[in-house]
Amino acid sequence: MKAGLVHTPARLREIPSVHALMRRESVNAEAALSGRALTLHAVRGAADLLRASMLSGATYASREEMLLDFDRQFQNCVQRLRLASLRSVINATGVILHTNLGRAPLAEETIAALSAIAGGYSNLEYDLKAGARGYRDSHCEPLLEDLTGCEAAAVVNNNAAAVLLVLNTLAQGMEVVISRGELVEIGGSFRIPEIMVKAGAQLVEVGTTNRTRLSDYEGAISDRTGLVLRVHQSNFKMIGFSERPDLHDLVALAQRRGLPLFEDLGSGCLVDLLPWHVPGEPRIQQSIAAGVDLCAFSGDKLLGGPQAGIITGSRELVDQVRRNPWMRAVRPDKLTLTALESTLRLYRDELAPGRLPVLRMIGFTEQNIRRRAQSFVRKARRSSADRLNLKIVSGHSTIGGGCAPEARLPTALVAITHPALSLADLEQRLRHHDPPVITRMENDQLVLDLRTVQPSEEPVILQALAQI
Ligand SMILES: *Cc1c(COP(=O)(O)O)cnc(C)c1O
Repeated sequence: MKAGLVHTPARLREIPSVHALMRRESVNAEAALSGRALTLHAVRGAADLLRASMLSGATYASREEMLLDFDRQFQNCVQRLRLASLRSVINATGVILHTNLGRAPLAEETIAALSAIAGGYSNLEYDLKAGARGYRDSHCEPLLEDLTGCEAAAVVNNNAAAVLLVLNTLAQGMEVVISRGELVEIGGSFRIPEIMVKAGAQLVEVGTTNRTRLSDYEGAISDRTGLVLRVHQSNFKMIGFSERPDLHDLVALAQRRGLPLFEDLGSGCLVDLLPWHVPGEPRIQQSIAAGVDLCAFSGDKLLGGPQAGIITGSRELVDQVRRNPWMRAVRPDKLTLTALESTLRLYRDELAPGRLPVLRMIGFTEQNIRRRAQSFVRKARRSSADRLNLKIVSGHSTIGGGCAPEARLPTALVAITHPALSLADLEQRLRHHDPPVITRMENDQLVLDLRTVQPSEEPVILQALAQI
């Protein structure tokens, strides 16, 4: 592009018609490859971009130069149309349950189950034994009963929906007693006080932010109380001078007063994570065994499955929740239920720690990752431009997704620098790679944490680094 030979508006007429552009050789070649519809879309897009840039002052020395610019824009448009908007990315952040990156990656078995169900019909709501209408909870409910010890279970689209549904079913027009220390906000938009309003229940806060005793609950319960709510403190953890009643004491109090106790457990943990040094993650079966009437938790946090909200507890209360007309508005589809059933079967068969990516990633030791990082750096030095500087530094991965806030998993990070590029530039180049590589900035370093990278993705990162 060169500064003006002719005034732009007049030159707009120089842009050939879409019809004429479609006959260009470069465009024709693309149409043979990608089809006429996509090509036409790209031609229109490129012509619009050309017009816009001429209107904002760009001029061309010749018609040929203008058409060259068109070809460039056209290729960009084709590239953009070929890529889906929702794409696979490589998570090199070391945050295992990254909500922005889709939380839990699914197990191989689950991916196979999804592809078997997705393209055809299924017995989603059909009882094959009886040859009559069935119900969609029948696929996961027996597994959830087996794994958590509950009497009944229902599945909805996510845990936020589960909490809303339970509060609306059991406490509409009534009061819900909750400790001030548990009035949490999760992920910026899920706030217990707001959920409570939408559910039609009235919040009764007891205790103080850091200390709540059983007697505080006792004093707040009246004949207007619909239920007692306990919320897992999720992504923040109070350290030091804090206190809350033991779960067993709270269960006994609720039973004494004839009230249901509902626990929002958030992360949906079924296995003991202590051997991997992840403290303080309550397990569903512990709450059920303690006598909690209803528990709600997510499918795509520590459980390692698809986005879902799972409600487990007493048969009577789960049935009551199921009869809520909202149930129809938050019911999951066949793909979610397929993925959830497959994930739960891995737990039933005691294969979960080895097969579920989330549990595998939590289980990697620092030594595992350091070994991978060392081999990665060797390969990168061989294949990248010598100006790229890579070194291994110690650091921590996190679980994320509002789970186990105090768990910091020791890891070995690959720190990258380049003498001619800023860290922001490096970060952007990796992010703009296809597939995108998402990294983390830490202590003025750009780092890759291989804990969340699958070994099959390492060559792709090496390729992205080689292209820098
Ligand atoms: C994550 C979380 C939720 C929301 O769950 P989604 O499945 O993301 O809807 C609710 N409560 C707690 C305690 C959580 O940790």
